[in-house]
Amino acid sequence: KNFNEYFLMNETDVLDYVKEKTDLFSDDSDLESKEIGDGNLNYVFRVVDVNSDVSVIVKQAGEVTRISEDMRISIDRIRIESNILKLQGKHATGLVPKVYLYDDVMNCFLMEDLSDHEIMREGLLSYKIYPKFADHITTFMVNTLLPTTDVVMDHKEKKELLKSFINPDLCEISEELVYTEPFNDYNNRNLVFEDNKEWVEKNIYNDSELKLEVAKLKFAFMNNAQALIHGDLHTGSVFITEELTKVIDPEFAFYGPMGYDVGNVIANLIFAYMNGYVNDKKEFIEWLEKTIEEVVDKFKSKFVDYWKDNVSDIMAKEAGFMEWYLSEVLKDTAGVAGLELSRRIIGMAQVKDITSIEDTEYRLFAERVCLSLAKELIINRDKFNEGKHFTDKLKENV
Ligand code: ADP
Ligand code: MG
Ligand code: MG
Ligand code: MG
Repeated sequence: KNFNEYFLMNETDVLDYVKEKTDLFSDDSDLESKEIGDGNLNYVFRVVDVNSDVSVIVKQAGEVTRISEDMRISIDRIRIESNILKLQGKHATGLVPKVYLYDDVMNCFLMEDLSDHEIMREGLLSYKIYPKFADHITTFMVNTLLPTTDVVMDHKEKKELLKSFINPDLCEISEELVYTEPFNDYNNRNLVFEDNKEWVEKNIYNDSELKLEVAKLKFAFMNNAQALIHGDLHTGSVFITEELTKVIDPEFAFYGPMGYDVGNVIANLIFAYMNGYVNDKKEFIEWLEKTIEEVVDKFKSKFVDYWKDNVSDIMAKEAGFMEWYLSEVLKDTAGVAGLELSRRIIGMAQVKDITSIEDTEYRLFAERVCLSLAKELIINRDKFNEGKHFTDKLKENV
């Protein structure tokens, strides 16, 4: 096979591909190739030279999803992903994998192998503690989000950047799965835990006050081209060790509200918290409580520092404007945290932190805490503007 025309590669094809397209491996190398993807959309291969231990990751997009042949999504997403990884690598050095090559024919890219890290959601499922996570993830968010805003960037350059990150298919997935289906199941693909069906019907599907607020958030997601966001910043998109944090999988990136990223991080920490809570992991949940607070508070303080050093728009320098802008970001953050808490429990893409809770009573309890908190976060989103506001509400609900 040559690689002049797109096809979906298997392990052997990928082996030939890296030999032909890169000079990472010497001629006498002994290469092994393995598909290691665990997501719903893409194929991820690890190629390693068993003699030298040199390795590389190849991520390729397929034209249909791995879960259903009927769901087609543009393979252009791999261009978006490799390009934003390069951009994030410039703004947030060391916090994303290095990209070695992007191939617009095969719709794949090559990146640094992070197999010596662990996917954070997996680590959290065994109650591991990551003391530097809050510091790293807030640096990642502030340093990737703020520099792409009109506050900092030249407005014409920003519009050029925005054009190159138009991502309709992946935005549609979020518009449906995050902002619509969890609140009415109109596509009949929600996965509500049997014992929780009645409760969800009554407290979510039939709550018109809640749904009005979700509608407002949905249009803010579609219409607020604030910053180049990651778009899928859950704990399954974080590779981590005690010392290092690397954010992967930004294929959902587009110009949207930056609170989307911050809110996703908070909600996914709450899922881990609930798992730790029902399993009585005291030290773990204390660390998570502190981490949730730090994610909010360090985000705020780094945001202010970055703003002061880099604001370029003359009107954005008006007294009070930064405070107003940040308060809007925090409002979006709370709202999105509520949406993510809802959609991972009601919608079709669930999280192991919750689904792995085997005891029915504990599972019901964890789900209802998340959903009750979600409602408050969405409806009263203007009341959450420091870390403690989030953890106080969480503790009120458990
Ligand atoms: P998807 O978009 O399909 O969710 P991800 O980028 O999240 O794909 O990758 C799926 C899995 O592949 C990850 O959970 C991880 O196990 C593995 N993987 C992805 N990128 C790397 C990498 N740079 N190094 C090592 N493993 C990786
Ligand atoms: Mg993924
Ligand atoms: Mg469910
Ligand atoms: Mg992905």
